[in-house]
Amino acid sequence: KSKKSVCIVGSGNWGSTIAKIVGHNALKLPHIDDRVLMYVYEEMVNGRKLTEIINETHENVKYLPGHKLPHNVVAVPDVIQAARDADIIIFVVPHQFVRTLAATLLGNIKPNAVGLSLIKGFDSAKGGGIDLISHIITRHLKIPCAVLMGANLANEVAEEKFCETTIGCKDSAIGPLLKDIIQTDYFRVTVVGDTDTVEVCGALKNIVACGAGFVDGLGLGDNTKAAVIRLGLMEMVKFVDVFYSSGKLSTFFESCGVADLVTTCYGGRNRRISEAFVKTGKTIRELEEEMLNGQKLQGPFTAEEVNYMLKSKDMENDFPLFTAIHRICTGQMPATEFINSIKMHPEHM
Ligand code: NAD
Ligand code: 13P
Ligand code: CA
Repeated sequence: KSKKSVCIVGSGNWGSTIAKIVGHNALKLPHIDDRVLMYVYEEMVNGRKLTEIINETHENVKYLPGHKLPHNVVAVPDVIQAARDADIIIFVVPHQFVRTLAATLLGNIKPNAVGLSLIKGFDSAKGGGIDLISHIITRHLKIPCAVLMGANLANEVAEEKFCETTIGCKDSAIGPLLKDIIQTDYFRVTVVGDTDTVEVCGALKNIVACGAGFVDGLGLGDNTKAAVIRLGLMEMVKFVDVFYSSGKLSTFFESCGVADLVTTCYGGRNRRISEAFVKTGKTIRELEEEMLNGQKLQGPFTAEEVNYMLKSKDMENDFPLFTAIHRICTGQMPATEFINSIKMHPEHM
């Protein structure tokens, strides 16, 4: 068969948005199968199965209400059935679910399939380290895995407001194929080879966004928020420098870097929940339940994974912003101490 088929593993806020884009592109592109299968974690919504609602109304009424998916996108509750015949598998689930899904898919996908991960987050590895999600996918499923990260608040992308994104892909034969299935006239793609930095940026900016939310919750001003964003950026750069030494500074100037940091610190869910955390005194978990209707926060969890590594390497003091955010999210430190904890930042010494 000469046409390549695409499957989407995940159907949350971002997963459904990307399904809309890929579905439209699949119809336009002669070398891509029109039919796009989308794995949907099955749940009951208003007394009906979510997959049935999506396949009948072409709308993910729970995670992306108000936007129609193209009719060639088909919701499937079984991940193996969704991915079995795919040549390109797009992974877009909250990062805490990726290991289980990879274990389920092992041995049940095409051996020459390629992956594309849109997942922002890390996983903790044995022995005090962290793993990149795309590396977990490659290691467990034995397929190459590119990444896509950018300044892409899902609802704005679904509304077709202009933005950019970054694909990190080392294989020059695969990069253009991935760009074909993702790019539209309003969603512009740049492909770079520095995949690890692209992915690390996407994960770490969610931690910084929690800090931006604390600043908002504390009623501090725009200057303070800019300082937190800048210190966060400097810690992101240092993190790549220390742990991914082949990473390039230029990657931070792609959409996945400074641009995603800015949009998430102003418009993201991590920011919003962190502001409410300061104002209400409720736990992050309670607020996620109350405010997100099933969507998942990645920042506090990522802060925990990063802290697990920094602690085991005795490097917490080298990353005071990441460390403070983790301590605040977990209740080990009051949010009111946030600014004090970064006044002696290595950047100022
Ligand atoms: P989401 O936050 O909407 O999460 C909800 C999804 O998780 C739903 O599809 C739900 O069915 C699924 N889910 C719940 N329990 C599950 C389980 N046990 N197993 C498997 N799936 C389960 O998801 P999202 O917004 O699509 O985010 C996915 C990834 O994309 C994240 O890493 C996120 O950081 C990243 N991302 C999100 C946005 C955005 O604006 N939403 C933008 C860019 C990147
Ligand atoms: P939040 O998860 O904080 O909403 O960020 C979404 C995002 O990754 C935008 O690029
Ligand atoms: Ca086609």
